[in-house]
Amino acid sequence: MRTRFDVGCVIPMNDEGDIFRPGTVVFDETGIQYVGSPEACPAVAERTVAMPQGILLPGLLNGHNHAAMALMRGMADDSPLFEWLSHHVWPLEARLTPDDIYLGTLLASAEMIRSGTVGFADMYFAMDAVAAAVEKTGMRAWLARGLVGNEDPTGEKLAEAVAFCQAWAGKANGRLQTMLGPHAPYTCPPEYLARVAEAAKSHGLGIHIHLSESRDEMDQMATLYQKTPIQLAHDAGIFESRTLIAHGVYITADDLRWLEGIQGGVISCPVSNAKLGNGIMPYPLLKEAGIPVGLGSDGAASTNNLDMFLEMKMMAWVQKLSGHRPDAFRAMDALWAATRGTAQVLGYDGGVLAPGRPSDFIVLDGGRPHLTPEWDVVANVVYAASGADVRYVVVDGRILLDDGLITTFDEEAVAAEARKRQALLAKR
Ligand SMILES: [Zn+2]
Repeated sequence: MRTRFDVGCVIPMNDEGDIFRPGTVVFDETGIQYVGSPEACPAVAERTVAMPQGILLPGLLNGHNHAAMALMRGMADDSPLFEWLSHHVWPLEARLTPDDIYLGTLLASAEMIRSGTVGFADMYFAMDAVAAAVEKTGMRAWLARGLVGNEDPTGEKLAEAVAFCQAWAGKANGRLQTMLGPHAPYTCPPEYLARVAEAAKSHGLGIHIHLSESRDEMDQMATLYQKTPIQLAHDAGIFESRTLIAHGVYITADDLRWLEGIQGGVISCPVSNAKLGNGIMPYPLLKEAGIPVGLGSDGAASTNNLDMFLEMKMMAWVQKLSGHRPDAFRAMDALWAATRGTAQVLGYDGGVLAPGRPSDFIVLDGGRPHLTPEWDVVANVVYAASGADVRYVVVDGRILLDDGLITTFDEEAVAAEARKRQALLAKR
């Protein structure tokens, strides 16, 4: 169905830096047909949505998530990392069923759709359940089964992960893409990383991995292998395939030689990095080196909230703090990271609105007091808006949030079920 949105402002995030005010977007399931001013729009549409105060922009792409961990939101919060993982997260994960993971992914998806996220990169387990949830919600996803080398001596799980990738890649009308997910160098020894790298190369798969996230990880890798996690991954052959590096907080100038020519890039998770006390990703260093940088939330168990508007604010705040200058990182840099940056890391042609591109976009209600007046619409979107301002979400030409209502599943039933499961999981 051909649909037309007439709004107060369109920010297409194109290379020309256009902003159309007022603006019109026309799309269908095959992609965007028109972006520009309403007068020049030739297309006739079957449905027209008019929102004179609406701000329309590409949907946000969450480059690093463990969606099903939404079920653990707030569990044993503020505990030291290792205690939190070993006493709380891992024992509970051992008891999660595929049904729990399906439900947790739906819960996270309700939150993500409501806050303007159109797609996410996910690493978890029972990924068939995650993929089924993504099919249902209408979102896009890049899914990787998390691999822990220490628990996979025979490579059986790696083989399962490859089979998962082959079974689901391109499904749901291409909304589903798959990757391999070696968890991190402290859970996957170098020989195992090399096996994953080999499998990725021979099957043409991308890789999603946590690297250089914490001081502890840096110290451990230095002690065990006299290498940084980036060098370790490089030497194992990981970067010979497209790689999504989650976090990258401790990447140094010395690491750049290992990252030279990398396909993919780094996904910054500033709220998680701040909350766990890890530090600040060196954005200027990566930018200078031409390495794409995107934005992600990490799982709700550590980040508590999947609102990418909060991530954009936090990214801007910490980069300004780190650079000791307000212009060290601008509102547009944050919006770029959350749209085109993540798309570049994933090798996805979305994150920008132009004819022929995927019809993935969101509309905010720009008429609210905290978004008024409008001196600078990008500053309003990044510094003043929150996910709660999102009224419409369109993914692959389908309206998933229609004037504030989720159209693809019953979010209240999902929330009610999640409360029930939480009570059971707390007891089990
Ligand atoms: Zn993570």
